[in-house]
Amino acid sequence: MDVYSAQITNLVEQLSHLPGIGAKSAQRLAFHILNMSEEQVAGLSGAMMAAKKNVRYCKECCTYTDGEICPICANPKRNHKVIMVVENTRDLAAYEKTGKYDGVYHVLHGAISPMAGVGPNDIRLSELMVRLQQDVEEVIVATNKNLEGDTTATYISKLVKPLGIKVSRIASGVPAGGDLEYIDEVTLYRALEGRRDM
Ligand code: ZN
Repeated sequence: MDVYSAQITNLVEQLSHLPGIGAKSAQRLAFHILNMSEEQVAGLSGAMMAAKKNVRYCKECCTYTDGEICPICANPKRNHKVIMVVENTRDLAAYEKTGKYDGVYHVLHGAISPMAGVGPNDIRLSELMVRLQQDVEEVIVATNKNLEGDTTATYISKLVKPLGIKVSRIASGVPAGGDLEYIDEVTLYRALEGRRDM
């Protein structure tokens, strides 16, 4: 027999499917939600539904956005000849926070990982190759500094170099295995400035 009523048990179970949320956290969140006003709960669930329904991939860089094209790709002041390749939209946000990068991005939504069965066709690489048919001067590979990120960087380099486009990799200022989103802005900026040709 469950300790909680069926509806609470269901809420706890749904919450426990979220990443980083264990059984105890799920219970804590469930009771927090029960203590919220109906208006607040409607706001939370409404935001989740609206984001799920309306957010899509940018047609240019594949980041998550509300419209056809994200604000960065739509900005004529950005340098569209320099493309920084990142693993996900959170990494893009981390570089944007430095306020020092004026190029555009390409979001892969993952990294090549033979161990996890993720191959080149499972990430947004073909979309990148299509973009490279335009006038592009440099591709900065800013995938994470771990096995998957390095494998992806090498793979991209092999694809891009024959096109006569410069390929660089962010410097070792980023700790090995570190998620870009947890690194401070100064370190990220230094890693970007210290990038090396591949
Ligand atoms: Zn975009």
